[in-house]
Amino acid sequence: MSNEEKRRGLMLALSSPSGAGKSTLAKLLIERDPAMRLSVSATTRAPRPDEQDGREYHFMSRADFEAMASRGEFLEWALVFDNFYGTPRKPVEEALAAGRDVLFDVDWQGARALRAAAPEDVVGVFILPPSRADLETRLRKRAADSEEVIQKRMARSAGEISHWTEYEYVLVNRDVEETYARLAAILAAERLKAHRQTDLAAFAAGLSRNDP
Ligand code: 5GP
Repeated sequence: MSNEEKRRGLMLALSSPSGAGKSTLAKLLIERDPAMRLSVSATTRAPRPDEQDGREYHFMSRADFEAMASRGEFLEWALVFDNFYGTPRKPVEEALAAGRDVLFDVDWQGARALRAAAPEDVVGVFILPPSRADLETRLRKRAADSEEVIQKRMARSAGEISHWTEYEYVLVNRDVEETYARLAAILAAERLKAHRQTDLAAFAAGLSRNDP
């Protein structure tokens, strides 16, 4: 008998400074790993032109958000600038109970909030760029931004990077396929953690029983 299917899913909190390749890795995971789902947050901010309700976010009114929050329907939520953002609890709990994993593309504060809400379920992975020069090149490539904007981004990146110690795993992203393979290895091991294998007790008991 294989007990690998009978497991509780995990919450993968993936963080990095912007420009380290996190979104590419997140996209690859969702495309390639059939057990992985992306968590879609709720927000009270207005959708941007290229955003679609239910894809980037669940866009909702402040009143609806506050009602959900007061019913405890968010795993965590935060006020960012003038808007509320939150992780709806139900889809995450359903996925975990069904043995599926949920990917959270979050900064260190988001990862910390998820860990506080579900310490047993969260696996934190932090992605680092291979060098400062590489990070700067990637941040510059994004658009024709002013030097001031780029320097602000570099400073913000440095702030994010300082939180690497809060994560179980840290990957230096030198090559996206190599980093993906390492991420896949982390997931393979974490999925086999004893506390996630929900039928182990019964399985082990069956192995020791002396029935004919
Ligand atoms: P944006 O409006 O640019 O999509 O996101 C603004 C900020 O909100 C980002 O820093 C992002 O990390 C944060 N954010 C997005 N979704 C959530 C969420 O579900 N919970 C928390 N705590 N922050 C979120």
